[in-house]
Amino acid sequence: MTAPLLSVKNLVKRFPIRGGLLQRVVDQVHAVDGVSFDLASGETLGVVGESGCGKSTTGRCILRLIEPTSGEVFFEGKNVTTASKDELRALARDMQIIFQDPYASLNPRMTVASIIGEALTIHGLTKTRAEYEARIVDLLETVGLSADHMRRYPHEFSGGQRQRIGIARALAVSPKLLVCDEAVSALDVSIQAQVINLLEDLQAKFGLTYVFIAHDLSVVEHISDRVAVMYLGRIVEIAPAKGLYTEPLHPYTEALLSAVPIPDPTVKRTRIRLQGDVPSPIRPPPGCHFHTRCPIAQKGLCDKEKPPLRESRPGHWVACHLRG
Ligand code: SF4
Repeated sequence: MTAPLLSVKNLVKRFPIRGGLLQRVVDQVHAVDGVSFDLASGETLGVVGESGCGKSTTGRCILRLIEPTSGEVFFEGKNVTTASKDELRALARDMQIIFQDPYASLNPRMTVASIIGEALTIHGLTKTRAEYEARIVDLLETVGLSADHMRRYPHEFSGGQRQRIGIARALAVSPKLLVCDEAVSALDVSIQAQVINLLEDLQAKFGLTYVFIAHDLSVVEHISDRVAVMYLGRIVEIAPAKGLYTEPLHPYTEALLSAVPIPDPTVKRTRIRLQGDVPSPIRPPPGCHFHTRCPIAQKGLCDKEKPPLRESRPGHWVACHLRG
């Protein structure tokens, strides 16, 4: 078996909550609670879950845009979590992120050329002005824009085009791994499909590896080789996409899937409506975090013991006492 490109081991992130006159730490948000997975080169892992489940924090901890509280991240065998500033700068060439809101993440005062070219300058990737401009034109064309767009500003573009600029900026350093953090969530459905198709084309062309974060299982279905479902900071199920969509094991995955529309009108799916809201990540429920909403929870077991993530079928892992 080849070594994984990315390996995340028992990642934990807690955000302190400060209060009182002295701004002492009075509590903490358990944003990521022991997340582990491996990702092979060229693979796409979809990460889904409701807002606040820790998926974006996980993505940002992988790149150390947020410092993890504990756990380790390895990229090509290098420990990202202990990397020095210089090592992180070098790693930033291999690992890039695309954000949800392309407008907020693009400086409105910079031209598209400057936005895309910034990383080329920082990493000294082009030697002459002509080479720099040719690379920017090449990147724009790679994402379906044109040389005419170079001198324009972000506000002159549609949401979909702005996300293409964000992708071109990420591609400027020829990364191996892209964390797509809700990269299509703010776009209309038809534009979402275009951007997902573009990401698939880029993956085929450049051999990219994706962590594709979204709150909706329907969005990640076509792009993902495997899918991880998160609930309150933990992965509750991780499996090859086909297995997860056809035979989900975790009750939470079943509920999420029941909300995904099916294009075939002859196929009926019963919507599972979960009771209550997602509990606060400040005080997650003991045992299985999902027990307060789980339709099959067993008293005395699910509310007391944390279910381990275990392999139920080859490659299909689930964290549930009663399933798998
Ligand atoms: Fe439901 Fe219990 Fe399984 Fe958690 S461990 S998902 S509460 S059955």
